[in-house]
Amino acid sequence: MVYHRHAQHGFAGLVAGKWARAMLRKRLPAARPAWIALCVLSILCVCASAQTNSTSAPAKKGRIVIGASVLLDGRGHVSRDTRIVVEDSKIVALDPKASPIDYDLRGFTVLPGWIDSHVHITWSFGENGKNAGADETTQFAAYQAVSNTWLTLMAGFTTVQSVGSPTDVPLRDEIAKGALPGPRILTAVEPLEGRGEKTGTPDETRAFVRKQKEAGADLIKIFASQSIRQGGGMTLSQDQLNAACDGANKQGLRTLVHAYKDAVRAATLAGCTEVEHGTMATDDDLKLMAEHGTYFDPQAGLVIENYLANKARFLGTPGYTEEGFAAMERVLSLDRDIVRRAVKTPGLKLVFGSDAVAGAHGRNAEEFIDRVRDAGVDPMSAMVSANSLAAEAMRMGERIGSIAPGYEADIIALDGDPLKDITAVRRVTFVMKVGLVYKNVAWGAIPTYSGVEP
Ligand SMILES: [Zn+2]
Repeated sequence: MVYHRHAQHGFAGLVAGKWARAMLRKRLPAARPAWIALCVLSILCVCASAQTNSTSAPAKKGRIVIGASVLLDGRGHVSRDTRIVVEDSKIVALDPKASPIDYDLRGFTVLPGWIDSHVHITWSFGENGKNAGADETTQFAAYQAVSNTWLTLMAGFTTVQSVGSPTDVPLRDEIAKGALPGPRILTAVEPLEGRGEKTGTPDETRAFVRKQKEAGADLIKIFASQSIRQGGGMTLSQDQLNAACDGANKQGLRTLVHAYKDAVRAATLAGCTEVEHGTMATDDDLKLMAEHGTYFDPQAGLVIENYLANKARFLGTPGYTEEGFAAMERVLSLDRDIVRRAVKTPGLKLVFGSDAVAGAHGRNAEEFIDRVRDAGVDPMSAMVSANSLAAEAMRMGERIGSIAPGYEADIIALDGDPLKDITAVRRVTFVMKVGLVYKNVAWGAIPTYSGVEP
């Protein structure tokens, strides 16, 4: 029941067709059809050279004015009837008198592009339809990874943190160059898998961290607990965790720690940056995270719902058994419970992360609905958790996650008001990233829309 609305976003070609029609209907300046060309090219997966070819490069120079009747600034404030002025890749002003309006988003909710702190961007289903994991290097897997980035961007996510796979690296770099459309990617490259004694000595752990940095890691991902499908027991000792997180700190890298139960406390005491999942942590553990300023990224639903909905595609592939699925069914209510308790913990910094794996890319925003509907998160906090707070947790709080002068022009619009109806997060009508418009189905292109015409 959670998924049917995504039929309208699930098919890039359909979206692009709608987009192209909407763009033409809006009678945009002559340069804009070049953007349609980029979009179509990218869907055909032949766009690798589009942006370096001057004939098909999007018109990036100049000034763009976006009209907004409702603007969430990403930090918890709402402005009304204003205009955002973008020059090149940056927001330069909020000026209600700026004109002429190039993109009229009045009637929608405008906010910063979302940040998903926890995805596995290359993780896909293989040619046989079965789970292929995150590390496949076949041509088919490469196309799937590109498709994942496109769907994620179209769903309103302009930045994702992928945790992680070595195959993230070339994808991140092509997107950063502007040669592929997709969200800005930060990657952990190869995660540190806790394997008890076998994980290695503290010195070996520090060497592993350095190796990831040399391979281009933006952060370090650490597994300090087993999968929840195997019970979630601790796989790294306190000493090992101390070495991993201290080693990363010394390299200037953040640490994200996959942790359940006791591992949550251990990761917090080790000075790690952020705890992922946190299922079955105690209230005292949550308090400790708040005291240490440890960011917390629990999941209220999408990841488990996605596994259950795609059970036949995962079952029998490495790590996925009937017993594992039975465990996941039990865990869903515990996941909601940890989010509910986290919300009530004063000072705990709850960031947004969907843990999107195969089958969930482009549906990341379902996690907002799960958090608000099932786990007591207030809608404004849910938005901030994927805007300024997620940016701060990535140490990018001065660059992304807010709509304010000096910030990257990562701007999206929703058909509806997520503060009143959280399902509006499914209806992303406009996506701009670093000043380039990748989606604009604003006017009349979504059949359910009944807002004000320009
Ligand atoms: Zn994950």
